[in-house]
Amino acid sequence: MDGVDLVSVAGEFGTPLYVMSRAAIDAKIAGLKRDFTDRYPNARAAYASKAFLCVAMCRIIDEAGLSLDVVSGGELYTAIRAGFPPERIEFHGNNKTRDELALALDYGVGRIIVDAPGELALIEELLSRGGAARVATAGDAQADSGGGLSSAYSADPPAYRPKILFRVNPGVDADTHGHIMTGHAGSKFGFPADGEDLYTLIGDAISSARVDFGGIHFHVGSQIFTNDCYLAALRRGLGIVKGIKDRYGCDTPELNIGGGFAIRYTSTDEPQSYGYYLTPVMSETAAYCAAHGLKTPDVTIEPGRSIVGEAGVTLYTVGAIRETRGGGKFVAVDGGMTDNIRPALYGARYEAAIASNADAPADETVTVVGKCCESGDRLIEDARLSAATSGDILAVYSTGAYGYSMANNYNKLPLPAVALIEDSKARLIVRRQSYEDLISRDLA
Ligand SMILES: *Cc1c(COP(=O)(O)O)cnc(C)c1O
Repeated sequence: MDGVDLVSVAGEFGTPLYVMSRAAIDAKIAGLKRDFTDRYPNARAAYASKAFLCVAMCRIIDEAGLSLDVVSGGELYTAIRAGFPPERIEFHGNNKTRDELALALDYGVGRIIVDAPGELALIEELLSRGGAARVATAGDAQADSGGGLSSAYSADPPAYRPKILFRVNPGVDADTHGHIMTGHAGSKFGFPADGEDLYTLIGDAISSARVDFGGIHFHVGSQIFTNDCYLAALRRGLGIVKGIKDRYGCDTPELNIGGGFAIRYTSTDEPQSYGYYLTPVMSETAAYCAAHGLKTPDVTIEPGRSIVGEAGVTLYTVGAIRETRGGGKFVAVDGGMTDNIRPALYGARYEAAIASNADAPADETVTVVGKCCESGDRLIEDARLSAATSGDILAVYSTGAYGYSMANNYNKLPLPAVALIEDSKARLIVRRQSYEDLISRDLA
């Protein structure tokens, strides 16, 4: 990877190990700028941090000048501790807690995407309380000691007005797995696009003394190869932009169309450029607004996996190899559903290679399994690999998104380390959990 021998990286840092390529992340961001943010004056992009988040990743996104999406107090805290500018943070979530909202307002996040009926009223109430009183309600924030943030809590509240966007459910079926479809009518996310509640809340935000109406948001789903569902949702969104103008005489500052741009997990996947999705989005938006006398909103996207997914590989050490009675072969590795739950969660497909014997022909078909006590702990069905021996290093491709971020401690497997390859050198950006870490919160 980028001129670095992954087998020696595995030797240096141990396995299982996530390895991220800085060059690959940078190339994705460059494509995003070329096709979108540098191309249109009204284009903005926020990296969806849930795909892969750590302090080093926040710094990469900050350096690139992108905004950052967070969906929880923990993601927000990570970003703030990494020094990410709060005005470029956008806070999502269908059930943000009072404490999380208090923390977000205290940090001064730039945008909050409201996705629950009482949320705007709660934000206004918290803003009316001001800094210290507000934080007194936020248990997590108070528990934070020695992190260098306590002054932020005790400081006077910054005189700021968060931008409030509203998450809309566009009622569009994205062509992807049901678990990662988010814009259909039965989804738990968003206000129905044709409902009165949405307009009432938008009216409240427009007339608010404490917040600014920021616009509307939708996200149709993830790993989407075609642009038609984006365009279908966009038309719904533009209809709302017009509805807002008709009712309130108010322009919509921003239309956020979410993320979900597909990546190459396997050799049969043929992902498209950002331009494929966004060129028609931008031209339809401009044309619709011109035709209806509307001010063209800024358009924001929220790519997650398309920034980091292909930039990551996971390295494992091959252990037990066994033939099944049916003539199949299991190749077991030293990780599994703990470091990559996507195959078990929604049948996600991956490809791999024996990195320690990379030139040998991939002429065996095997099932790659993990070491967890679950029969469903199968990483790759029908993997094409060269003949593996115990001790080989297996590299699974395109694991940069939703691997580390969904990792768990089932069977008390320690979370793997994350290495970043940059300037032809590998360094750790997240250290491996130790056994001691595993019991560090246990109380006798
Ligand atoms: C998950 C999510 C994204 C990112 O999705 P990807 O498939 O990783 O690009 C963006 N926006 C919202 C609201 C999301 O929930």
